[in-house]
Amino acid sequence: MASGSGSLMWFRKGLRIHDNPALQYAAEGTKFLYPVFVIDPHYMEPDKNAFSLGSARAGLNRINFLLESLADLDSSLKKLGSRLLVLKGEPSEVLIRCLKEWEVEKLCFEYDTEPYYQALDFKVKNYASTAGIEVFSPVSHTLFNPTDIIQKNGGRPPLSYQSFVKLAGQPSSPLSHTLSSLPLVGDVGSCVISEVPTIKELGYVDIGQDECSPFRGGESEALKRLNEIKNDKEWVATFEKPKGNPSAFLRPATTVLSPYLKFGCISCRFFYQCLQDVYKNVKRHTSPPVSLLGQLLWRDFFYTVAFGTPNFDQMRGNRICKQIPWNDDDELLTAWRDARTGYPWIDAIMVQLRKWGWMHHLARHSVACFLTRGDLFVHWEKGRDVFERLLIDSDWAINNGNWLWLSCSSFFYQYNRIYSPISFGKKYDPNGDYIRHFLPILKVVLHDSASKECRRKMAEAYALNKDSNGMVSEEDIRNLRRKLKEDPEQEAKNKRIR
Ligand code: FAD
Repeated sequence: MASGSGSLMWFRKGLRIHDNPALQYAAEGTKFLYPVFVIDPHYMEPDKNAFSLGSARAGLNRINFLLESLADLDSSLKKLGSRLLVLKGEPSEVLIRCLKEWEVEKLCFEYDTEPYYQALDFKVKNYASTAGIEVFSPVSHTLFNPTDIIQKNGGRPPLSYQSFVKLAGQPSSPLSHTLSSLPLVGDVGSCVISEVPTIKELGYVDIGQDECSPFRGGESEALKRLNEIKNDKEWVATFEKPKGNPSAFLRPATTVLSPYLKFGCISCRFFYQCLQDVYKNVKRHTSPPVSLLGQLLWRDFFYTVAFGTPNFDQMRGNRICKQIPWNDDDELLTAWRDARTGYPWIDAIMVQLRKWGWMHHLARHSVACFLTRGDLFVHWEKGRDVFERLLIDSDWAINNGNWLWLSCSSFFYQYNRIYSPISFGKKYDPNGDYIRHFLPILKVVLHDSASKECRRKMAEAYALNKDSNGMVSEEDIRNLRRKLKEDPEQEAKNKRIR
């Protein structure tokens, strides 16, 4: 039996009560409110063929973080007189069934720029428009609306941080007001509703404490974290990236708000406002791009470029990406992925990735550079996939943007500037505390010859890109790959690395 005259709040990211304009609008002038989260089995259920514990798409740490965030959201909704309705299945099918069964008049969800959600939302919006259901889908996952910025820039995204910041100005939309209660949940009819499942209920065996991330999911945890940060005015005012120690693990050198921003447990707009409040109350503070506020602008920058660039997540067909004859060597890739390169600094970071799902920005720099243009010359898309699976903050726009950057495929082109997998780590971790924490076993391998070889390949690829004015064909890439392989000196070096 349907209740009628209800609105449906569809949670995907934006797993929070504070500053949630979609939730606020959904709750206004309605008798019943259905707060829904759909578990997509493809994203959540165990996949035995994956290289780490987890589903086909996500590692277990991120699934766990999401479940914790959902449980926290459910508990906050209950305090406001509501609850989270958890359903299972292909999200657009489930959603459409709910809209029909509950005779929903208003559908609200946060706007999402990721291709996956764009395709999903297209289907759901289509149904809603034929059924005469009002749809409200505000931009609240980013500070700015990427569409507006692209429009201001004549239809193309700005490709430098500076031009982005100039176009963007200050965020103008006000934060939503705090909700003190929510309308009742209506009759759910024949739809199968469950509580937020536990990791065991999803079919996973419990992983040992030693293997799991120290960061707990949820809005409550995020607000607590943000509160501690804003109370430390001096730290906020002097924050300066890339300064900061990537090997600090007992007290990380940055906020570790990324997984909370990824799932929207914290509003980036609220975070921005808190930073502005701190800045107003101190004599001096750092500025973008190095300040903490500047980091949030980096996030919006990558969201905007990713949204406005077709095939942003691949080399081929991506107009802002250099065409480079990366190798597809799965042995090198798995050695990197499984922390078996023999470089303690690199391997320790990869263990931290697997165990914690989070590493400091410069640690990410080190391993991404090493895999691609630094030492192994493996395709950045392969490294991106590993990060995408294992990071708890895995974010489509930011992850791809940074892999493009680190591999000198876009945004940054000084391929002679590499991170030494030895001296860079030693600079920050002279006593090996970080390395010994994540990597009790040590081995040693050579780096100099491999990195020299990678730089030679980058030079050839850049020359090719220049000669062909950015129009590098598949055949050009094949030819260059052959040429590089035919070099006997290079062959000998390759053998040595293996
Ligand atoms: P803080 O320094 O405290 O910064 C606050 C917030 O600003 C971050 O939470 C993040 O939302 C944003 N931010 C910071 N640095 C960047 C950046 N370079 N680009 C865009 N936004 C930024 N970050 C992700 O959130 N998800 C990813 O999937 C991701 N993949 C990455 C892959 C590579 C190869 C590299 C080099 C970096 C990647 N980053 C990613 C960016 C960055 O490393 C993390 O955002 C940061 O380390 C998270 O820690 P924090 O929250 O303590 O950051």
